Order: sequence, then structure tokens, then C-alpha cells
Amino acid sequence: MDDFGAWFAPYDYFQQPDFLNDLQGIENFQMDAFPLQIDVPEMASSVEATVCDTPTSSDSFPNSAINDPPSNKRRQTSSPCESESLVRYRKTRKLRAPEQTAKVREKGACYLCQLKRKECQDGVDPEGSCQRCLEHVRSITIIPGLLRPVCWRPNIGYTEIFRRGPTIDFAPTLRGNCEDEGPGKQAVWKHFATRRTGNESTKSVELSQNWTSNTLKIPLERYQPKEGDKQHYAWFDNGGEQHYHTPPYGIANLHVARSSIERFLEEKSAAYIEAHMRNATEITRETFRVAQENKHQLPLVERALKLWVCCRFIEEPWSIVGAEKLGMTTDADPNCPYSDRIPVPPIVDLQIDLIVINELLKPELKIILKMMKTMLESSKPWKDWLEIYLSYFILLHNVELTIAHDLWFVKRNNLKRRYSNKALIDTITQGATTLLTCFHYAHQGYAPFSNPELENKQNWTNVEEGYLSTIRPLLNGLRGDHVNDPAKELFWTSQLHKPDWRPVVLMC
Ligand SMILES: [Zn+2]
Ligand SMILES: [Zn+2]
Repeated sequence: MDDFGAWFAPYDYFQQPDFLNDLQGIENFQMDAFPLQIDVPEMASSVEATVCDTPTSSDSFPNSAINDPPSNKRRQTSSPCESESLVRYRKTRKLRAPEQTAKVREKGACYLCQLKRKECQDGVDPEGSCQRCLEHVRSITIIPGLLRPVCWRPNIGYTEIFRRGPTIDFAPTLRGNCEDEGPGKQAVWKHFATRRTGNESTKSVELSQNWTSNTLKIPLERYQPKEGDKQHYAWFDNGGEQHYHTPPYGIANLHVARSSIERFLEEKSAAYIEAHMRNATEITRETFRVAQENKHQLPLVERALKLWVCCRFIEEPWSIVGAEKLGMTTDADPNCPYSDRIPVPPIVDLQIDLIVINELLKPELKIILKMMKTMLESSKPWKDWLEIYLSYFILLHNVELTIAHDLWFVKRNNLKRRYSNKALIDTITQGATTLLTCFHYAHQGYAPFSNPELENKQNWTNVEEGYLSTIRPLLNGLRGDHVNDPAKELFWTSQLHKPDWRPVVLMC
């Protein structure tokens, strides 16, 4: 960790008497004042290098529209003769340096150029600071201690914070699998329907994860298993593998299943959050309470909460709890995990996961990251402080739960390794680090926690003031037993409150 010392200016800013005066002027926040006069490598590459050697990702979103400056989005007006002739002329812009532009598109513009909406051109060293940042550094007034590298590329667009599907070795079928996992890359899965066979009528099962008394109703049809479709769950007794058999039922109509899941999400989100908060620490509980109470005024928070609940749908296994049990009964052996519950057939469990991942989680995350990216570029970074902070907190809490779920899976399957899905751990660790980097370097969102006097200078709302006055003493009383385990509550979220934050390195 000592290495980081060379990459940042020393942290002494908040100890200086000028600090509050500087923050007072934050309404007129000038990005020109930000870069430090120190020679540092780029942040994006340094963070990635520290976290399990995961590959670098660029700043750009897959959807190019997000990166296009507003002027490019303007529609071309067509002349009357164009519409008559059926030939459409596209206005093209000649690029001054096409090769250079292509390179920048690949790695994304740096933060300063993004804010200024200027071209980000390579400096002397293509791996170092861009031309603008280099030129800029010579002419700026330096504010010592602001923790940000000179030329920084926030790569929030590719942030991953949830499981994208099973690993190949634990998949109950290979239907839906498009790509295998690789180092730092999760396997790619598409949702798939099973084809109905025979004349048996549709069975409507009621499913539960035991977080609420309400059930998710899904219609299932009998299907013809293919080679590789698993029709059982494995469990272990005295070191030996046992099987609990399940009948061949699957989801034939994805559309109906998706609608049911969406309805369940709509109606049961609050109950899911409430159930999970019962055993949570006071900091987490209070944060989720404020988020829930104010979500209708804070659109990003509302979406983050929705994503958080959806992520729970792909964790705990679904049990059949209604009258229709597809002919299954509980196992008589008390050591069997299915002695007190009837599991949904494995293929159905995967089908539900993949509907949630592809139809709900992925589109939702894309919108959330787009909104976050817009907020990163705001010239008034503290205007939406609470909305930004709560959203980051919820997403990072999700990372804690996701890692904890992987550890549970390791235990349940008697695996002799630390994580079952290493690619998942790599990608979400990198995702969490990206979020924290953005939160600290772009928003400086930690300051309200460490500097109560800031309140006098900022027009915090009552909700913001109330939240801060509840949380500050809790943070002071926090003991450090969460700091060594990335699956533990507060491991990631507590990093939001640290004024001298540095990326953590996971030895996995
Ligand atoms: Zn630049
Ligand atoms: Zn730059």
C-alpha cells in the first residue's frame, strides 16, 4: 500500500485553515483548480492493476449515444427534395486526426476533458497525462491535498456489481450459455425457454425465498430433457454425494414469467428490504431507511433500491410452497437440505435467474451508470450529494451481499476453494473500486462526514442534516472487525466515509 503514496499529494488539505474557505466557494467549483502539480500515473490503470489483475476497461459505454457530445445528437433537417428523391444524404464530419480520435474513443476521454467537453489528446507519453492536463498543470493554482491524480479516466460505464449467471461447472444446463468465463470476465448467458411436450396442462407453482409470506406465481410446463440438462440437486452426507431428484418442468413462456417477476418486484420490494435490514448494523439500517423514505424525490436512489432487490432474487434458492408441488415431496433424511423444503427444479431456478439478470438487472444497471456518469460531469458536485451518496451506498452494500452469497455457495457445495465464482469476485471487486474512486475523486462525498462545520457553509436539506447527525456518532463508534473480510457488511460501504481513502487490494 506504500506505493500509493507516490501517486497522490499528501493528505493534509482538511487540516488546513483555508479548507472551509475553499469549500465555501464550491458552488463556483472550478475544475481548473483540481489537478495537482505532481507527476502521477493515471488512476484508472493503477486501480485496475491493484485488483486481482483484472483487465482494463475504457470509460465509454457500449451505447455510443452516451458518449456523444450533445451536438452530435441533433437531428439533421431534411430538405424537401431529399424526402422526394428517397436518397438520404448524411452530413459527415471530417476528423482532424482519425487515428488519434479512434484511440481516444477506445480508452475514453479523461475527466477534465469530459467536463470541458474538449478533445482529449495524448500527451508526450501515450500512457501518461493527456495534452490538456499537462498544459493545464503548468498554469494552475495548486490546492494541496485534493486527492485526485492529474489525468484521470473514470471508467464507471462498465462497472459490474452482480452475478451474470452460473459458472459452467455448476450450471444445471448449457442451454443459454453464450460464452465461458475467463480471467476477470464472467460467463455470458441468455435467457431461454423450454419447449412444452405432451398434453399435460400448465402447472402454476407458487415460489418463495422465505423473505416474505407472499409468493411468486410462475406457470411451468413439462419438457423433454436434452443431454446435459440436470434433473437433480446434489448434496453431501459424510463426504458422499447424494441426489435429490426433480421432475422435468421448465418455463415455456418467458414473457408471462417476466411479468410475474416484475409484479412481485413491484409489490414486495419493501418487504425484501425490511427483512434484510433486521440483522443489519445501525449504519446500514438507517441508510436504507432514509433511502426508502426519500426515494420518490431521488430517482437514482429509487433505481438503486430496485436493482438491490432484484439482486436478491438471484441469490437465495426458490422453494415451492403452494399446493401444486409437481409430484415432489420432502426428503425423509433429516440431513438432506430438502428435508424441510421442496426446491424448484434446477433448470427453472436458472431460468428465473437469467430472466432477472438479462431483462431486469442489466437494463437497470445501464440506466443507473448513465445517470451516475452525468452526475460525475456536473459542475456542482455537491448539489445532489445525498442522492449520490445513498446510491453508492446501496450498490456497495450489494457487493458485500453478493460476495457473501458466493461464500455461502462454497460451503453448501463443499468446495475446497475460497470462492466458487472467481470471475464474479474479480469483476465486482473492480466495480466496487470504480464506484469508490468516482465517489471520492469526482464528488468528494466523504467530506460531510469528517467535517461537521461544512454544514454551516452548505445549504443541506433537513433530510441531509438529519442523516449526517445520526450517522456521525455511529461512525465514531465503529469497530474495525469488518475491514478484513470483503463479504462482511460495511467492508465496502464504510470506505465511502474515509477522507484518506485508497483502493483496497484483495488477495484472492
Ligand atoms: Zn484529457
Ligand atoms: Zn487529462
